[in-house]
Amino acid sequence: MICKTPKLNVFKILKKTSAEGPGQRFCIWVQGCSLKCSGCFAKATWSHKENILYSVDELFSLIEEMKNQIEGVTFLGGEPFEQAEALSVLAGKVKSIGLSVVTFSGNTYESLKVKGDMNIDSLLSNTDLLIDGPFVQEKIDYSRPWVGSSNQKYRFLTKRYSLKDILMAHNKVEIRINRNGSFFANGMGDFRQLEDTLCLQVKENNL
Ligand code: SF4
Repeated sequence: MICKTPKLNVFKILKKTSAEGPGQRFCIWVQGCSLKCSGCFAKATWSHKENILYSVDELFSLIEEMKNQIEGVTFLGGEPFEQAEALSVLAGKVKSIGLSVVTFSGNTYESLKVKGDMNIDSLLSNTDLLIDGPFVQEKIDYSRPWVGSSNQKYRFLTKRYSLKDILMAHNKVEIRINRNGSFFANGMGDFRQLEDTLCLQVKENNL
């Protein structure tokens, strides 16, 4: 049988991180975002040009290999709902093995629902925690976990997570340094301050 689900255009994957949602998580940063929030720290993910293509099955195999070390999977970007078809199928598979799904979006929940798009609705129905709303530079606030501005909201779409999980968590940044001296930073926090403190050159394409 020919699989018609489109491949996912991916910016980067990280097999295990504790900085992008509750517990240890497999993270997929999708490639492509039309929203272009001012002050976005992930500008390298904006382009919709092909970057790394994965089929849903390829990604699911990688996730299954990590199954015993993670609590769930996080979709972020880029804008996950611009690739809702592939992600909704992947999210369904992830839930079927007992892992949780956290999805970030620069769109609000209401604006996604009003589109009446089957794939968007399917991704929402397979998401346990939606973290929604654009990053707004004038509303920068790093006091809550995983978000950078005060307008962004936590939407508990299933019973898997609750306010308690938010209150127990803190914002953090993880930095991975490669043998060649390059590094990858992820999580949420004041990247500019980090740059000054550690004398690093944090480029805008380092998430
Ligand atoms: S903050 Fe998120 S939604 Fe906004 S432009 Fe950057 S990647 Fe897109």
